[in-house]
Amino acid sequence: MLDNDQVSEEKPICSAKGCRADAVWVLAWNNPKLHTPERRKTWLACEEHREHLSQFLGVRGFLKDVVPLAEWESEETP
Ligand SMILES: [Zn+2]
Repeated sequence: MLDNDQVSEEKPICSAKGCRADAVWVLAWNNPKLHTPERRKTWLACEEHREHLSQFLGVRGFLKDVVPLAEWESEETP
């Protein structure tokens, strides 16, 4: 369903299923069963889906951070 961890595409779009809206937010998450603690997977979210995707990760205890896309890209090194 949700398996998009790319934030480096020229025009990032929302990771929500079926959504093609421009991404505005980056949701950083980590699944402790699959990932080392420092590892961050990312989902992208438009304004509309930020809350939905945050809750999806939040109820599983995976969500670590929600950051505006512009801020994320300026901080993250490839
Ligand atoms: Zn969306």
